[in-house]
Amino acid sequence: MTAGEATIEATTTEQRRASLEVIAAEVRACTRCKLSQGRTKAVPGEGHPDTEVVFVGEGPGQTEDAQGRPFVGRAGELLVRMLASIGWRRQEVFITNIVKCRPPGNRDPEPDEIAACAPYLQRQLEILDPAVVVTLGRFSMGHFRPGERITQIHGTQAPAPAATGARDALAYALFHPAAALRSTDVERQSYDDIAGLPRVLTEARTRRAGTAAPSPELLTITPTTPGDDAPTLF
Ligand code: URA
Ligand code: SF4
Repeated sequence: MTAGEATIEATTTEQRRASLEVIAAEVRACTRCKLSQGRTKAVPGEGHPDTEVVFVGEGPGQTEDAQGRPFVGRAGELLVRMLASIGWRRQEVFITNIVKCRPPGNRDPEPDEIAACAPYLQRQLEILDPAVVVTLGRFSMGHFRPGERITQIHGTQAPAPAATGARDALAYALFHPAAALRSTDVERQSYDDIAGLPRVLTEARTRRAGTAAPSPELLTITPTTPGDDAPTLF
């Protein structure tokens, strides 16, 4: 890689990081729906600005609400173990939720809340342009695979609707990790399903290569020696 190319890549990464931080700041101050009233901290989401894979959960739980970070409670610990089972780490993907503020008592998010919050997720996906969106649970699946049933389509992929902001992505459906914590059958199935994710990423890359010319910055990415924070996914 020449110094010039390195500059282009670094600028692009930094621009994405900055754009994601603009959204995060808006989320932290947001009062667009009634979930703003009960939250401690809003949870915008976090991860690598160059990632190809975005995980979308339902909404923050108690630990997430206290810390302002996604999937840091027991469900998050399971998600990290599931990622480790395919050799991935949370800092090399992006993790966010359908609603960015905790529903009181962890109740289901309501349609008006999901609609009010959707523009934030849409903008995050427009910036990240992931190859794969991994949906965690029913509510996330309903957004990216409308009209389906989680028990029927877990472990399968289909093109995400471009209106979600993911303009050329496969949406891969997983059970919610909290459901896996409640049932060893669901847990076993979740490990089987996530084992298929690297293959889905390969399929999504092939699909994207066929439908669009790779952008210049993607052509300049070269492998780095993996350190603690270095992505190994891409
Ligand atoms: N469950 C979710 O859906 N999201 C989180 O961030 C944590 C738990
Ligand atoms: Fe705003 Fe979304 Fe939080 Fe509602 S859930 S207050 S729309 S950030």
